[in-house]
Amino acid sequence: MQKGQVDEKGKLPHYMVAVMKKPEDRHIAAPAEQKPSFLWYNGLQKEAGGVRIQRAIPDNPEPLQTGSRQRRTAAFRLQTVSQKKGENTMDAIYQLWGLTEKNTDWEHLLLQLNRLQDRHPARAVVCGLSAPGEVYTRILDRARKDGTAVYLWLPAFSELDDLSSFDPLIDWQGKDFLAEGNVREFHFRCPSSIHNREVFLEDSLLRLQAGEFDGVFLDRIRFPSFQFGLSGVLGCFCPHCLKQYEKIGADPERLRKACARLQERIGKNEENPLGLQAFDGHRWQLEDPDLQALFDARCAILEESLAFLCSEYRKRGYKIGLDLFSPALSWFAGQDFLHLMALADFVKPMMYLHTDAPAGLPYELDAVEQSTGRESRKRLMHLCGGETVDEFAAAEIRRMMAMARGASSEVSVFCGMEYNRVRNLAPVGPEKIARSLQVFRAAGAAGVMPAWSLISAPEENVEALLEEMDRC
Ligand SMILES: [Zn+2]
Repeated sequence: MQKGQVDEKGKLPHYMVAVMKKPEDRHIAAPAEQKPSFLWYNGLQKEAGGVRIQRAIPDNPEPLQTGSRQRRTAAFRLQTVSQKKGENTMDAIYQLWGLTEKNTDWEHLLLQLNRLQDRHPARAVVCGLSAPGEVYTRILDRARKDGTAVYLWLPAFSELDDLSSFDPLIDWQGKDFLAEGNVREFHFRCPSSIHNREVFLEDSLLRLQAGEFDGVFLDRIRFPSFQFGLSGVLGCFCPHCLKQYEKIGADPERLRKACARLQERIGKNEENPLGLQAFDGHRWQLEDPDLQALFDARCAILEESLAFLCSEYRKRGYKIGLDLFSPALSWFAGQDFLHLMALADFVKPMMYLHTDAPAGLPYELDAVEQSTGRESRKRLMHLCGGETVDEFAAAEIRRMMAMARGASSEVSVFCGMEYNRVRNLAPVGPEKIARSLQVFRAAGAAGVMPAWSLISAPEENVEALLEEMDRC
């Protein structure tokens, strides 16, 4: 693909630009030596055998002071108790993502970007995949003037052009996740498959040639959530995942039986079918040790895959941004927030308070209820420290900020918030933008990334955002 051309493959319907303040350059250095990850299994800590983490490129000159999981967790707890004072000034950040339909108005996008940059220069701009080369060039020109980094948005385990060549996700009943009618707007492919990783990596490196990008922003880096019911969360049982389970000493048959037990408990309307006991900030404690092992293993698998990808990008000099759920939900989608955060320069937890669509908090919490019962949702929220969506979000933000402060490498947390309006699904106007920012600020968030489309964000919402940010 030559610079200046529209990528032939770039027919993905998304365009995203994210803008963040503070033009600081932050890197995660490499570990002095690679350390194995640890997995909690049946309540005992075991070394996760072949599941090793490469946190960054081995030849990076700066050593990473990566502590063990326990040390990091301890640091996190410490920070939770004594939050630093005077850190409640939220930096202004925006995430902007639109549709590349035939009549996408690129000039309008560039005008909007300039308007944002004029008022709140960003730390980074995240571009979607399908812009003409000239648009990337103009974004880069403007960004360079402001000291703003430019990232390329990349969907890792879904939404790639040729999904048919990817290894599928298989649920606990042996069903192909996509074959079960779960295609719709969110496709998922198994993150443990080396083939999937490599195809994605190769594809993304080609796409990165479209401009002089400073970093990659990785999205769709998870297993399906409760959005798809139990079929989404109770997997994967593909040959690659089975091998991974064996490596870490988890018996796939026991894991399958645990899935069947969960389904049975749900069928009997048990009050706490998931067996939620406690949440330690990034990992749930479940009553059923085999179910625990499955969710832990999903996190270990995803972490390994992402560590591989991040290490490949770092080798080539790219910074890393990660799109995640917030910790209490992310763990069920295979994202151990604390661990994944260590791979990134910044993370964007999706804190959509008003969106009744995938990744929106009301939607995802409803999905927990629909998959596992009303009491599950109540219990999950209660154990996380929030009875309402706003309280839940605030508790999650406090947790994430504490984790970032306790992290051994610098990483920023920017709350994804919506500022697009879709009737019934995301009824967002200036008032809701103000409310989101109020919740985030009160919880001590460092910043926000308004999502998901700069191109299609209503004018009044863009203005409301800028005005709210003036107050930060
Ligand atoms: Zn799999």
